[in-house]
Amino acid sequence: MRHHIAVIGGGPAGLTFARVLHRHGYPVAVLERDPAPDARPPGGTLDLHEGLGQLALDKAGLLTEFQALSRPEGQAMRILDTDGTVLRDWSPRPDDRANPEIDRGHLRDLMLGPLDVQWGREVTQVVPGKDREGALVRFADGRQETFDLVIGADGAWSRTRPAVSPVIPHYTGVTSFETSLDDVDTRHPDLARLIGDGSVAVYGVNRSLTAQRNSGGHVKVYAKFRAPLDWNANLDMADVEAVRSSVAALFDGWAAPVLDLLRHGTSFIHRPLYVLPVSHTWTHVPGVTLLGDAAHLMPPLGAGANLAMLEGAELAESLANGPGDLDEAVRAFEERMWARAGRWAKITTAGLERLVSPDPAEALALFDEVQPS
Ligand SMILES: Cc1cc2nc3c(=O)[nH]c(=O)nc-3n(C[C@H](O)[C@H](O)[C@H](O)COP(=O)(O)OP(=O)(O)OC[C@H]3O[C@@H](n4cnc5c(N)ncnc54)[C@H](O)[C@@H]3O)c2cc1C
Repeated sequence: MRHHIAVIGGGPAGLTFARVLHRHGYPVAVLERDPAPDARPPGGTLDLHEGLGQLALDKAGLLTEFQALSRPEGQAMRILDTDGTVLRDWSPRPDDRANPEIDRGHLRDLMLGPLDVQWGREVTQVVPGKDREGALVRFADGRQETFDLVIGADGAWSRTRPAVSPVIPHYTGVTSFETSLDDVDTRHPDLARLIGDGSVAVYGVNRSLTAQRNSGGHVKVYAKFRAPLDWNANLDMADVEAVRSSVAALFDGWAAPVLDLLRHGTSFIHRPLYVLPVSHTWTHVPGVTLLGDAAHLMPPLGAGANLAMLEGAELAESLANGPGDLDEAVRAFEERMWARAGRWAKITTAGLERLVSPDPAEALALFDEVQPS
């Protein structure tokens, strides 16, 4: 394969694509907006499923390293009632490797390995060529470059997507705040016990609070609730204490240890949940395609990074092993990606409806349906 290929974005999709292509001996330009790998906090923990994210890591030759870094015990899940009563308390068997957790930063470093990522290369536009002639990439610094194939793995607000589809993400009606606890085992031992080895979740009417252990005693806490997009119009988002008390007020009356998850949280990151329409597809455009959230942004219910990684691995394999017709390989890949992502988008959309629901019993029922007993 002698094609000049660029992948835009060094997230799970872009890095897996580049890593698998690299394993087959082919170069790819990874164009990443962040100025450096540690330019911003990498985010929380990801559970990688056996048939999805772990399969992608296997295709990249990284499964053994992943197993050494991941936390199978992080699959543990406890559900409390709003008064603190334990409703479910599930722990994985010691040999359970179905969905182990890994910190995003650890996964990124594992994937980066020998890759030569071009940091600080923010893409502003991708223009498909005329007569099936690759695509032009424009950068924020005014430069531009042409490639035989441009792969948009640039996430929810992709700058590549407009080259193939006019669709933009829409708000789900659920908003989310993320906060963190550090050194939980020494600073907040009661909360450490409440969270256990994995996650604790509490579901109320149209709201939920989840705390999830990362490595090194770090915990991410997520408060989700149904609200109009402008619910915070009169809130000074830079005022941590004002945000804390506004968010905590939404959980008024919940058990004190549960509210302590918010009381001890450090900063608060606001994340309204946006999605692309279920089964988002487009008319194939030679020279450009999408992977991961850029193609199928869906509610964050444990599938997005897994799909992004498997797509990256599969596209790389089909380009490396295919008959040589770049366009045919991409076209066939897109059909497969759309079918699988469409199924997961339906599952996660229905899941969000049940996890942030007027009837909290729905969340418990969903847990019982998916969790092995
Ligand atoms: C709170 C939360 C928890 C989640 N938990 C899970 C989980 O447990 N399991 C799971 O499978 N999924 C989970 N997800 C979903 C998962 O994070 C995403 O689906 C996944 O990160 C998508 O990967 P991606 O590579 O497509 O996009 P991204 O991770 O968004 O990466 C895109 C990359 O492109 C770069 N970029 C963006 N714009 C440009 C540009 N213009 N030019 C150049 N570079 C650009 C970005 O800097 C970034 O590095 C969660 C999501 C959230 C919000």
